[in-house]
Amino acid sequence: MKVKNYRFNKLICPICNEKIKGPPALSRIDNKTKICSKCGILQALEDFIKYKKEN
Ligand SMILES: [Zn+2]
Repeated sequence: MKVKNYRFNKLICPICNEKIKGPPALSRIDNKTKICSKCGILQALEDFIKYKKEN
């Protein structure tokens, strides 16, 4: 029984609709949606750009 792997394989990133490989990232939209680490980095970058523009 590989319960841990099974759980990981079932996770789908709602942003790019791809299977999440490895540890998921938390979406910055609601802080509970799991997204893939790639989209997590993209969201972090977007926040960073917004922050720079506001200041
Ligand atoms: Zn994604």
